[in-house]
Amino acid sequence: MSGHDHQSRIEELLGQMTVDEKLGQLQQLAWAWGTGPGGADTEQAEAAARKGLLGSVLNIVGAETSNALQRIAVEESRLGIPLVFGLDVIHGYHTTFPIPLAQAAAFDPAVTEKDAEVSAREARSNGTHWTFSPMMDVTREPRWGRIAESIGEDPYLTAGYAVAKVRGYQGADLSAPDRIAACAKHFVAYGGAEGGRDYNTVDVSEQRLRNLYLPPFRAAVDAGAVTVMAAFNTISGVPAHANPHTLTDILKEEWGFDGVVVSDWTGVQELIAHGNAANEAEAARRSLTAGVDMEMVSTTFVDHGRDLLASGALSQERLDDAVARVLRLKLRLGLFESPYVEESAALTAPTPEARAAAREVAGRCMVLLKNDNNVLPLDAQALRSLAVAGPFADSGDLLGTWTLPGAPAAVPVLAGLRAALPDTDIRHAVGVSSDGFDTGGIPEAVAAAEAADAVVLVVGEPPAISGEAAVRSELGLPGAQEELIDAVAAAGKPCVVVLVGGRPLTIGGWADKVSAIVMAWHPGIEAGPAVADVLTGAVVPGGKLPVTFPRTVGQLPLYYNHERTGRPSDPAAPDVKYVSKYLDLADGPEFAFGHGLSYTTFSLGDPVLSRERIGAEELGAGATVEVSVVIRNSGDREGDEVVQLYVQDPAASIAQPVRRLRGFRRIRLAAGEEREVRFTLGADDLGFWTNDPAGVFTVEPGEIHIHTGNSSQTRARRTLLIT
Ligand code: BGC
Repeated sequence: MSGHDHQSRIEELLGQMTVDEKLGQLQQLAWAWGTGPGGADTEQAEAAARKGLLGSVLNIVGAETSNALQRIAVEESRLGIPLVFGLDVIHGYHTTFPIPLAQAAAFDPAVTEKDAEVSAREARSNGTHWTFSPMMDVTREPRWGRIAESIGEDPYLTAGYAVAKVRGYQGADLSAPDRIAACAKHFVAYGGAEGGRDYNTVDVSEQRLRNLYLPPFRAAVDAGAVTVMAAFNTISGVPAHANPHTLTDILKEEWGFDGVVVSDWTGVQELIAHGNAANEAEAARRSLTAGVDMEMVSTTFVDHGRDLLASGALSQERLDDAVARVLRLKLRLGLFESPYVEESAALTAPTPEARAAAREVAGRCMVLLKNDNNVLPLDAQALRSLAVAGPFADSGDLLGTWTLPGAPAAVPVLAGLRAALPDTDIRHAVGVSSDGFDTGGIPEAVAAAEAADAVVLVVGEPPAISGEAAVRSELGLPGAQEELIDAVAAAGKPCVVVLVGGRPLTIGGWADKVSAIVMAWHPGIEAGPAVADVLTGAVVPGGKLPVTFPRTVGQLPLYYNHERTGRPSDPAAPDVKYVSKYLDLADGPEFAFGHGLSYTTFSLGDPVLSRERIGAEELGAGATVEVSVVIRNSGDREGDEVVQLYVQDPAASIAQPVRRLRGFRRIRLAAGEEREVRFTLGADDLGFWTNDPAGVFTVEPGEIHIHTGNSSQTRARRTLLIT
């Protein structure tokens, strides 16, 4: 059905619907996990569906269960409008891929597209039509647990991933049996929560909103994302759920978004707690008139919409617009023609192909933070014995936050190493638990290390302390894990740390004591095989950090794309050195954005520009500048490098960040191979948004510094003159 056909069908339905049926379409109720049809929490949904007073249900899982509820809506309600079923499919359904932050580290949007395709196929076959993903909140706060769900601190990287994830979920035809609707969330600036405390205040200038937080959403909308979710935070005093500037002026009018804005879980009712509404009727009015179309879980729209309409506080036009958006989503999904899924075709477990994809993606996500004396990769031939210790060595709890209840556990690292090193004598000792302070097991781990040729320690933070509302005030390893590292490292054997976690961790206390560190994040279902691939060199690590790793929590916020101060710590290099440093701490981060090592080495030439000056007007009319850089694998094995391009505007009407990522390319080169990598820069890359609330993007005359390299701390530079 074409968009035109959708419109006439929408108008026909609107003409038939009562006010209550219209409001019903704006309601999404939650299905209780684990309870089947007829269960106490599900009766409300069934009864509402039967009366045609329900638009959507979230958290219903399984082909049979969803079909049963759908049958009530389609066969028993007056107009037979199908329900749309939503679920948080964040990084996998049965087949759990690495967490989004890990995927970001691949610097390769293809990995997230793969995750989304596999997720969509598994989810849709089980009756899920709509995922609340991608999460694209740019954040500079590792204390914030939801950084695990994000693409990190850079808006350009996040935008690239947003596009790939939307494409992977939605494909070209949303009504296909292996596609689901995407939801760009959380709109907007949720990642700016003060102190990283979840749901907290965000006070943000228009320029920062538009330059930092909005671009990934714009990219997702342009890529065709059919839904957007409002954020829990306030934006400069106005809750995102009641914010006409962001929801209507920008999203719906400036960008022309014709999809559904769904609230977050009870987000409309929470306007009362925010101090922005005196009661539920006021919350419903503020939220609906600001631009929220569907209410998740709380019921203020259906409870008060009729009165709001009668009093004129809610216009008929706005109500019909919200309903039209919900109906459009259902039409796009093909639910009127095919409301049910074929139960016999439901994918009920990961396929071998899906597992293989998850393993490959996990390998691409790992970041080699350090590798003294090239202790990695482990030499399978020479290694007679290996000690493997740490609370996560033999753990299946490596899936990460937001997984489907009942999703298969991760293959442990120990199992992965045993399979990869069949001729090595592998001894395992837990040492310490992930969060306890009992050190009684440390001597056994030390003894195992002393008796072995090398030791692998798998330490970090468990998934339970990353994700929503999982905020930490410290970023070290929980419990007695650092004591375990100290003791095992003192045994004097080559010591490799595999770090797991959902955020940057502070590792300054022990990083120097160990030989190598691999950041493995929460790697998903194929954790063990993927870690083994990297440790043995079957996969050469090529990931890069999508977030800054601070030395200590006291430095936060710390991010690469910061603005300059009037007093840089090194006046000769105001664009490189960190600013406003601490008396009691070395300057800069532990590991910078974009950092990551390899088992081979690369040499990068200086950037070459296709032209050295260009007119601002020409740029506005679509002209571009090409930047090329030659990269050579100067080592003796094949490997991946991520060539990164940053721009900097050293003198602008609004002071610009010291670096902004505007290009990245992950390429694989054989030993000795050389290649030229090209980037194209246009107005989007060279200009910026001003503080004008009407949305003004400007390209100003003057110099632009263009840097290329393999981390954000690169210094290779050329100057482009904008006239
Ligand atoms: C989260 C959303 C999520 C929703 C539904 C909320 O608490 O903020 O990201 O999609 O719950 O589970």
